[in-house]
Amino acid sequence: MEKETGKENVTSKNFIEQIIEKDLAEGKYEEICTRFPPEPNGYLHIGHAKSILLNYGLAQKYHGKFNMRFDDTNPTKEKVEFVESIKADIQWLGADWEDRLFFASNYFEQMYEAAVKLIKKSKAFVCDLSAEEIREYRGTLTEPGKESPYRNRSVEENLELFEKMKNGEFEDGSKVLRAKIDMASPNINMRDPVIYRVAHMTHHNTGDQWCIYPMYDFAHPIEDAIEGVTHSICTLEFEDHRPLYDWVVRELEYVHPPKQIEFAKLYLTNVVTGKRYIKKLVEDGIVDGWDDPRLVSIAALRRRGFTPESIQKFVELCGVSKANSSVDYAMLEYCIREDLKMKAPRMMAILDPVKVVIDNYPEGEIEYLEVPNNMENPELGSRQVPFGRELYIEREDFMEVPVKKYKRLYPDNEVRLMNAYFVTCTGLEKDEDGNVTVIHCTYDPASKGGNSPDGRKVKGTIHWVCADTAVQAECRLYENIVDEEKGVYNKEDGSLNLNPNSLTVVKNCMVEPELGKAEAYDRFQFVRNGFFCADCHDSKPGAPVFNRIVSLKSSFKLK
Ligand code: ATP
Ligand code: MG
Repeated sequence: MEKETGKENVTSKNFIEQIIEKDLAEGKYEEICTRFPPEPNGYLHIGHAKSILLNYGLAQKYHGKFNMRFDDTNPTKEKVEFVESIKADIQWLGADWEDRLFFASNYFEQMYEAAVKLIKKSKAFVCDLSAEEIREYRGTLTEPGKESPYRNRSVEENLELFEKMKNGEFEDGSKVLRAKIDMASPNINMRDPVIYRVAHMTHHNTGDQWCIYPMYDFAHPIEDAIEGVTHSICTLEFEDHRPLYDWVVRELEYVHPPKQIEFAKLYLTNVVTGKRYIKKLVEDGIVDGWDDPRLVSIAALRRRGFTPESIQKFVELCGVSKANSSVDYAMLEYCIREDLKMKAPRMMAILDPVKVVIDNYPEGEIEYLEVPNNMENPELGSRQVPFGRELYIEREDFMEVPVKKYKRLYPDNEVRLMNAYFVTCTGLEKDEDGNVTVIHCTYDPASKGGNSPDGRKVKGTIHWVCADTAVQAECRLYENIVDEEKGVYNKEDGSLNLNPNSLTVVKNCMVEPELGKAEAYDRFQFVRNGFFCADCHDSKPGAPVFNRIVSLKSSFKLK
């Protein structure tokens, strides 16, 4: 395989593209077909997004087809709930399977026939060894395995027994069908692998029709072949299974056999992707569901406010390679910032409000100031922002006794209220505990729009919200769910090292009236505070709830 290095992945052709182009040039396939084959046993996460966009992207690039297929051959863990969530996630990501939505369970009949074909070719046999015995007979990496005493059953006997397996005449675990390959193979996957097992279980799609189920390594190549998949792209852990994949398609004599290609999984540092762990976080009530914005399931990223474009960009930047590596979460944050920078309107929201009274401003009067929605993107237009005698500003934008270099509001200092006026602090009120309750200012009517009337300069510009028209909002601020210093997993017991501060709920935020109209998934930049998204479960018009997607700045740089 071609070696990939760093940045080249992004612009030059990746190794999978090279394989496809060669196959097309040699006329091996007329048209390519890829697929995404999730098992409906959980929610998709950012790693799956890589696989989805890779498969879909290749089909697009080479004018081929992209199939969506549920690999639902194991009824123990699969649920309809997951089928629905997976479909929604893939659609949201923008991968379009058109009319090609398939279920592996619809091929059970063909898989059964395929197994019969192998038996007839003396390439499969029914084995009575227990699971434990099969394991013992399998041998090790350094020692060959031992042949099963049932290996030389006649074709007739095998056909009869396999049919009885299908007809429910045997108990779970009492018999399996095994491929007859080579117990001395250096590749353990080739040592007469089990290809069918008895399992009296109700399947979410086929109900009680079947009591035998095919194993993944046997089922997957058949699914690919039936659908005419040309390039079956999977992750690196299946590399050692490829000889078995090839054996299955060869022995079943498919005219256009699909080809398996492996690439490295996408790993993100300091995030939790394991289903087992997420399930526990949900059960323990640490997160409020599989789409809690602190998780990296696709549903969680969507709820937090990530855009499909930001995830597409991220996956593109990660590139495709054969070498396992992990990517920093900061790169994902970089991608959403870049995407929202121009797209999101920039609004004013005060997360920790303190009141300002402009004593020389007419009482009871509200004026409307025209403010551009995004200074860098005039296409987003402008809006009317109310201004009045009483405002809110961020508590941290005022200091009674300023520290060195402090440029914001303090007694006798003049600052600019963003897009509004110059104001000078003239005094303050405190409660009995010494907390500032009201800041008194005067304004300069000639500085309307925030422009200096006479060339005099102010060093600080702060944002504000008009008190009379402000809407009260809840903002949810996130940190990593795990403690980055300690690492994701506890070295002693394997549990998660949780960060107790992963969620901060700020209830009494004051936001401009426009934000009160926010609908689910609406995204904004709150000036100086970050990018936010209206929560799809809890935000209501008039009582908005915002998730912070990401803060505005980071030290992350693209290498
Ligand atoms: P399980 O542990 O249940 O097998 P899984 O994450 O492998 O979980 P699947 O439904 O089998 O889930 O995965 C569907 C597809 O997504 C597979 O082709 C798999 O290779 C790919 N995939 C899974 N995790 C990643 C990842 N981190 N990066 C890239 N692709 C992935
Ligand atoms: Mg899997």
